[in-house]
Amino acid sequence: MESISVFDMLSIGVGPSSSHTLGPWRAALRWIEELKEKNQFDEITEISVDLYGSLSLTGKGHATDIAVMLGLSGFDPVTFPIENIEKEIDFINSENKLKLNGELEVPFFPKQNIIFNRKFLEFHPNGMTFKATLKDGSKKSSSFYSIGGGFTVKKERKRKKIKLAKFAQFPFPIEKGTELLAYCKAERKSISEIVLENEKSLRSEDEINDGLKKIWDVMLDSMYVGAHTKGTLPGGLNVTRRAFEMNKNLIGDSKYTNADEWIAAIRNTEVKFRQILKWVSCFALAVNEVNASLGRVVTAPTNGSAGVIPAVMLYYMVIENHDANFEDVRKFLLTAGEIGSIFKKGATISAAMGGCQAEIGVSSSMAAGALCELMGGTPEQCLMASEIAMEHHLGMTCDPIAGLVQIPCIERNAMGAIKAINACEMALDSDPSKAKVPLDKVIATMWETAKDMTSKYKETSEGGLAVQVNISDC
Ligand code: SF4
Repeated sequence: MESISVFDMLSIGVGPSSSHTLGPWRAALRWIEELKEKNQFDEITEISVDLYGSLSLTGKGHATDIAVMLGLSGFDPVTFPIENIEKEIDFINSENKLKLNGELEVPFFPKQNIIFNRKFLEFHPNGMTFKATLKDGSKKSSSFYSIGGGFTVKKERKRKKIKLAKFAQFPFPIEKGTELLAYCKAERKSISEIVLENEKSLRSEDEINDGLKKIWDVMLDSMYVGAHTKGTLPGGLNVTRRAFEMNKNLIGDSKYTNADEWIAAIRNTEVKFRQILKWVSCFALAVNEVNASLGRVVTAPTNGSAGVIPAVMLYYMVIENHDANFEDVRKFLLTAGEIGSIFKKGATISAAMGGCQAEIGVSSSMAAGALCELMGGTPEQCLMASEIAMEHHLGMTCDPIAGLVQIPCIERNAMGAIKAINACEMALDSDPSKAKVPLDKVIATMWETAKDMTSKYKETSEGGLAVQVNISDC
């Protein structure tokens, strides 16, 4: 089994899609690395990219072409200033040239050099091949696969060995929920404590804290920015941003100038059930509106589902525990990350492989278990909460209208967050020893359902809402 860190499951990136934007962006960077290692980089005269299968079918709506160009230009998706995206892409489009890794100028005609192929490569639905011509006329090519959550792999899996070695050094190697529970029981530790020990075998505690703090800062910022930005989302569907109005109506006349003051202001509002529903929805919508406008979000475990985990954490901070601090955030993210990794090992977090159950379903399950730990649930209750959240997402299809990560995606995050809170509450009031469906069984069921699902419902925009609703109706 390969190691999966919390920092693999939760990573800072750019919207709108982890598999169709972040993955191809990272793949382009990996290709440049590969060319440099082989001393071929300086010899390049021409380049092109072939996108296959789901990457091609929903690539335009998911900004795959933009991501590939930014990756080829050598920009880092974590630090690249998103306000510069338009300028960089306009330059390539108007000059018909691209500065490979910011160093080597090559001719580049986006319409001809990024080729959208309807055919699927055998290894994975999200395939792409980068091609280069060298000065001596020889051709080089390399294929990558974006397997969900921003992860990229090659068919020959050269990095597999390193990941296997890292897994072997974990004090608590975990593949399944049952193993996680056994460690918690034997060590008398919570889920987050067990996960922290594993993370410490990869990096220092300071680095872990620093990394998790950065992740939370981006999560909070995406909620704050989304809740204070009005207008229409890009892409042609004319979707109105709703978090702005929701926040305005809920917060009333409170005055604040930054995210921390905003949290304090929310804590001072009177909240009944309806307001709680609206606040949680507002937080989730805010993140995914930022995501849909190519903003910076945390992939958790994907970009399409990036709103669920932050929304549930902020719910805890403003509704359940006004004294919540970074220690709570840390526990929450560690637990959520581990649950996500168990899904990745036993099933998939790629919508192109498993539909939306693999995105919103997994994020809801991660958030449910993590919230349960903060609410004082036992490890058994945490996994029960995760199981309940996924059980009621089983079979959910991926059918984004016009290939954009907007409808149904944005609202689905609100639904996933609310379902996570409900699943947590039910688990807290239950005896997990009486649960009929353990987490591992629901993961196996999700995977079987994924395999049975037709490709129409796996991020191809060839079924469901994507064909019932015409872009001209929007
Ligand atoms: S429908 Fe779900 S899986 Fe598909 S793009 Fe939207 S959020 Fe992602």
